[in-house]
Amino acid sequence: MHALESERNWIEISLDHFIENLRELRRFMPKEASFMQIVKADAYGHGAVEIAQVAIQEGASMVGVANAEEGKLLRLHGIDVPILILSPSLLEEIPSLLKYDLMPTVTERRFGKILGDVAKEKGKCVPIHVNIDTGMGRSGVNYEDSESFIADIQKIEGIYLDGIFTHYAASENDPAYSSVQLTRFKEFLSRLSELPRWIHIANSSGLLNCPDDVSNLFRIGLLSYGVYTDVSLSEKVHVKPVMTFKSRVSYVNLVRKGESVGYNRTYIAPKETRYAIVPVGYADGYDYLLSNKGTMLVHNILCPVIGKVSMDMTAIDVSSVTGIQPGDEVIVFGNDHREIRVDTLCQTYGGSPYELLCQTGRRARRFYFQKERIIKARPLARREFVSSDYDSGELSKVIEGAIGEKIGNREIARLIFSTVLQRLFQEESRPLFHRHEFYHRLSFSQPKDEKLAEEYFQIDTELSFKKHLQNDYFIIACASNEKELEAYFRREDVEYRWLLDGSLHLNDQTFAIRSVRVDDLDLNYESRVSETCLELTCTHEKLHQLVGKHVSFTINTRTYYPKASHQLTVYITGLTQGAEISVDYHQVVPSMDVIPFFLSGQPNIYREEGAIHLITPANEWLLPGSGVVFVF
Ligand SMILES: *Cc1c(COP(=O)(O)O)cnc(C)c1O
Repeated sequence: MHALESERNWIEISLDHFIENLRELRRFMPKEASFMQIVKADAYGHGAVEIAQVAIQEGASMVGVANAEEGKLLRLHGIDVPILILSPSLLEEIPSLLKYDLMPTVTERRFGKILGDVAKEKGKCVPIHVNIDTGMGRSGVNYEDSESFIADIQKIEGIYLDGIFTHYAASENDPAYSSVQLTRFKEFLSRLSELPRWIHIANSSGLLNCPDDVSNLFRIGLLSYGVYTDVSLSEKVHVKPVMTFKSRVSYVNLVRKGESVGYNRTYIAPKETRYAIVPVGYADGYDYLLSNKGTMLVHNILCPVIGKVSMDMTAIDVSSVTGIQPGDEVIVFGNDHREIRVDTLCQTYGGSPYELLCQTGRRARRFYFQKERIIKARPLARREFVSSDYDSGELSKVIEGAIGEKIGNREIARLIFSTVLQRLFQEESRPLFHRHEFYHRLSFSQPKDEKLAEEYFQIDTELSFKKHLQNDYFIIACASNEKELEAYFRREDVEYRWLLDGSLHLNDQTFAIRSVRVDDLDLNYESRVSETCLELTCTHEKLHQLVGKHVSFTINTRTYYPKASHQLTVYITGLTQGAEISVDYHQVVPSMDVIPFFLSGQPNIYREEGAIHLITPANEWLLPGSGVVFVF
């Protein structure tokens, strides 16, 4: 998880405040009613995916977006409640509506007809909502002639009417006009013979100011983000800001009396004044109109903006802050302190809190807090994909998604991802060290011990490769069952693994080390044996000097293998570049077959009298899971 310390400016999103606000607002809804969380414009700059997820947990029946693209994003992130597109859709968006199962708002017969035709062709029936204009004067079907519109829409095959709504023009401060709109809407509804499942009217301030007895759904936006559309609303409900925009002092300086600060000399110091530069400008969303008007909070003291807000910097008067230093935290806005609440700040320059929230954070990372802990960090809103923006879990989703997009199948993408990539990274990101100049030779012979010789071959193995040395020790493991062996595959400190046949008793005779070397050091080894595994820890007092270096490993062992099994498999367990695997059987086995299974590249096979060599080019990469079966 990203640490805040490395950020110049950042956004904190309090999911606790969001949840508290939703619970406050729900108190105003009738018991049987539900709500639609409005998450258009990336949830007013709060992050559509995260906000939608929490709202759904809190009981949202639906989410509202501005267009098909926003809906698609939610679907790709697994949001599965109905998604309503609030604005009229374009004909060009129809394929997307169908593909991602999005509900459009229909305000034209022609659009409804074309949508229905396309849907029918695909064997679908798309739910739609109709927006009735009762005085908002924007989009929507005029309330006076909408009865016939509804009737016509209901006749179209391939679509069905799931909801009817209207929208207040000034629910935050014009109750008289809102009541005119409500009356018009109710009259219109009363003329319909049948109502669809959802009737909705109010946005968040409408919920508080304009109670009605017809709606069963509320479209909740700004108030849930803890910002008031009108000061009067703060008397009805207490909501807490969800977003806080923070930064750090990047520079502290003095301006002499009569000198100016910033472009066009709009601020002239009335006396010698200490000021700080905050690395936030209008490019970060801090509105240009806050020049000489805004206020920021440093060490809990209000500091006025002086001079013009620049593209990347803003100066604040810090004369009343003692001990200020570069690096000190600055609350740019959003916190519950009255003066720097988004709504208050917007009043100072006649701006819109909706706009200020939406435009914030163009250059800031977002951090989600729940119960005082960062639970998620979202990358910068870049246009280009930068893989290091993502933590490993998120990156895995991106990779899997990219494979899915490429092959058009999410299931197969998951399979490919888990078999190839998860195997390499073993569930998490870690440095991936590879082997090269890999050489593995197995020599079959008759055991000296006559009893063993009846049923077993003696197998001498020689293994050598070059690799980055990670620790001042490593482990060679021999297990007597697959499950134990599996555990050793997951460990990074194991360099060699062998599966001993279950008929043999595991000890340092049945699996013996003949020599272990790293470069020219002869390693010591200590063995630990249990019922099912023999673990050899290899060390040398000088080995620590080689940690982090590229070294040559040589591991020679002797073990036994049942004659009756007639086959022996050798795996390449790590990412390897260039390999030679050889088997030498001339003393004991009349003939041997070889079946290579290489996930990438194919080895050249050379046979000689009593020996086989599989060789891949020195620079060819081999994936783990590759190997060869020798059949005798
Ligand atoms: C944005 C929007 C809302 C949400 O309004 P708030 O004032 O943020 O609660 C509701 N309905 C429609 C149609 C909208 O476009």
